[in-house]
Amino acid sequence: MLGFLEKVADYTKEAASAAKYLVDGLGVTFDHMRRRPVTVQYPYEKLIPSERYRGRIHYEFDKCIACEVCVRVCPINLPVVDWVMNKETKKKELRNYSIDFGACIFCGNCVEYCPTNCLSMTEEYELASFDRHSLNYDNVALGRLPTSVTSDPSVRPLRELAYLPEGVMDPHELTANQARAGKLPNQVIKELQAQKSNEESNNSTDMDPNKSNSTNS
Ligand code: SF4
Ligand code: SF4
Repeated sequence: MLGFLEKVADYTKEAASAAKYLVDGLGVTFDHMRRRPVTVQYPYEKLIPSERYRGRIHYEFDKCIACEVCVRVCPINLPVVDWVMNKETKKKELRNYSIDFGACIFCGNCVEYCPTNCLSMTEEYELASFDRHSLNYDNVALGRLPTSVTSDPSVRPLRELAYLPEGVMDPHELTANQARAGKLPNQVIKELQAQKSNEESNNSTDMDPNKSNSTNS
């Protein structure tokens, strides 16, 4: 009998949580139903890429040590590191470096694992070309500083939906300096750091016998 009741309780809990997820999902759907389409007049208007956007890779030739870690961590062994061994100095000499953006999946592994941080993801996303061979960027092309939507005077930058203030649906209606809904990543990091230091100070107070004794006396 007890086993049967436990099964019924489990089933009820699962049904309740399933219903909650269903309502959450429908909430998102209904929230989208009241939104009207927003047209971005590209190329005169462009959306600002999100903070962690993984666009064209930037490369710094002078910082590269030709270790080839980027090649080994790449799912398709894409970066080409062209180096020769200098027999006098017994050191690698880098000649060329290239990445073919026609094959790159922009996973960011090479950027993540590069020991000298000479690779970085940029917000540049306009890589379209008539010739696929021109997507193979050498170290000069990779070293070019990225274009930015916000610093281009000929473009009107627009915020994406996630970066709009609460209640605003159309980035065209936005007045300057309106804060986005929610917290910025650096605000979240600060809060987490403050929370962690509070927890650590509480733990150290609990562990310190002198403090606990003085409190007791
Ligand atoms: S991992 Fe970095 S330092 Fe090593 S070869 Fe690649 S780009 Fe150069
Ligand atoms: S972003 Fe990913 S696919 Fe592209 S070169 Fe780097 S590791 Fe390879």
